Amino acid sequence: HRLTVAIIGRPNVGKSTLFNRLVGKKIALVDDQPGVTRDWRAADGRVGGLEFTVVDTAGLEDVFDDSLESRMRRQTERAVERADVALFLIDARAGVTAMDKHFATWLRRAGKPTILVANKCEGVAGRPGLIEAYELGLGEPVPLSAEHGEGMADLVTALEPFM
Ligand code: GDP
Ligand code: MG
Repeated sequence: HRLTVAIIGRPNVGKSTLFNRLVGKKIALVDDQPGVTRDWRAADGRVGGLEFTVVDTAGLEDVFDDSLESRMRRQTERAVERADVALFLIDARAGVTAMDKHFATWLRRAGKPTILVANKCEGVAGRPGLIEAYELGLGEPVPLSAEHGEGMADLVTALEPFM
């Protein structure tokens, strides 16, 4: 059984950047999944010898007929339902926001195995956010820089038990 990993979190935390890094160059060929929903896309991902299906929750820019929050909730729910593991990203530079807390509460209630990722952790600017992330009650955050490719080994360690 091939594991499905859903990348979720509020806008601008770096979900698509991580998706692209896990998927690699093939991403140029990846588009919205026709007939499924334009809100998210799936592709083959790999990191440190682990192979899985990775889902990027996207499309918040396409809001036209619904409140942002309800649309986010729906697309995230769909992605999380189908996933074996949720990679829940926060932006460590921005710190924990109200929307992050909202997501965290929802994830805990959903009971989905979740890996908390503190993205944008390159350098020192993410340190306070990384500490704050413990408040979300989702365990130890994995410090990551999706953009710079830092922390990928820790991500592998976090994902391995689910494989
Ligand atoms: P999404 O809305 O969650 O999909 O976020 P994106 O992947 O589109 O990234 C939002 C912004 O954050 C972009 O400007 C990225 O370049 C930036 N970003 C993503 N990952 C990192 C990171 O690790 N460090 C920093 N400093 N910026 C990042
Ligand atoms: Mg995105």
